[in-house]
Amino acid sequence: MMNLIEKKILSDGIIEPGNILKINNFLNQQIDPDVIYFLAQDLKKRFEGVEMTKILTIEISGIPIATMLGHLLNLPVVFARKQEILNTTEGMYSSQAFSFTHKQQNKVYVPMPFISSADKILIVDDFLANGEASRALIDIVNQAGATVAGIGMAIEKGFMKGGRELRAEGYRVESVVIIDEMDYETKTIHFRQQTKEIYLAGGCFWGTEHYFKQIEGVVETEVGFANGNTENPTYKEVYTDTTGYAETVHVKYHPDVVSLEFLLQMFFKAIDPTSLNKQGHDEGTRYRTGIYYTDPEDLPVVEKVFAEEQKNHQQPLAVEKLPLKNFYTAEEYHQDYLDKNPTGYCHLPLSLFEFARKAKEKK
Ligand code: 5GP
Repeated sequence: MMNLIEKKILSDGIIEPGNILKINNFLNQQIDPDVIYFLAQDLKKRFEGVEMTKILTIEISGIPIATMLGHLLNLPVVFARKQEILNTTEGMYSSQAFSFTHKQQNKVYVPMPFISSADKILIVDDFLANGEASRALIDIVNQAGATVAGIGMAIEKGFMKGGRELRAEGYRVESVVIIDEMDYETKTIHFRQQTKEIYLAGGCFWGTEHYFKQIEGVVETEVGFANGNTENPTYKEVYTDTTGYAETVHVKYHPDVVSLEFLLQMFFKAIDPTSLNKQGHDEGTRYRTGIYYTDPEDLPVVEKVFAEEQKNHQQPLAVEKLPLKNFYTAEEYHQDYLDKNPTGYCHLPLSLFEFARKAKEKK
């Protein structure tokens, strides 16, 4: 399943020597407003729930995307200039970026009044390659004493180091499209399949994680604590049952391989959905069941699976369905617990793991 931008890149993009992609007839010269709208919508969704006060981009091609996103998020947009503004008395933040496309050092400038130390800045641009342009903008945000809330890109060249390094440094980098390979000779482009996520509380997280790991299309799992009331809870704190947290599994999956609907159907097979705050021998609010989503567009799917499941029960379902409020990763020894401790306690029967390994969605 390709998105609009991937299709546009394949139909209209031109690969130039030196790993440069020209997309002059929808983004870099002629601008297709539908493409810009799609990019902005997608970035808006990706930064849902992140606190931001302003968007910072860099001229020229970042501006249309940033502007549309600013419109959707109701945020002002500031762009960095690539040329010094003469005849002004305003102070300037400035930084340097080596231009990947022009192979030269460029200075970038932002007048001081446009960023304040209270700002939480979302950095936006068209391409992420080595990350030089992003770093120049980060540098300017830092000079202003403001914070970087995230980095949103239209197209990331995943085979170049920018995205990897920025993520490793803890920046939240979201790209609508990631190109993993691009070949001038053969004119081929490979896109990275991006994952989706859902947070599932199904009682003790050891078994729930192990169960979801078996399912084809699930690419990553992580156990932790969701939708509670304290900061950085430890397992011991959550165990007191006073923090409001539920033991939860963060499931990342390839939507092309497995659907959310199927994952949720599998979830219901691994819980007693009418049992309140109790699964197996485990009792307490930390063992409640819940589906916590980060993409509001997932809600109709959640509702549908709930409605189907309810038909199988006389009592109302005791499973929460809520947006994810917060999630903290649990201590390392809880991760992949049943892989590390194959004979460890688990409220789920072994046969269920076997069932998960074999279960395949009917396409
Ligand atoms: P970076 O600073 O991350 O190395 O490169 C990002 C900047 O270089 C972007 O602002 C973008 O304008 C430009 N850029 C990098 N790669 C490409 C590309 O393949 N095509 C186009 N059109 N611009 C690129």
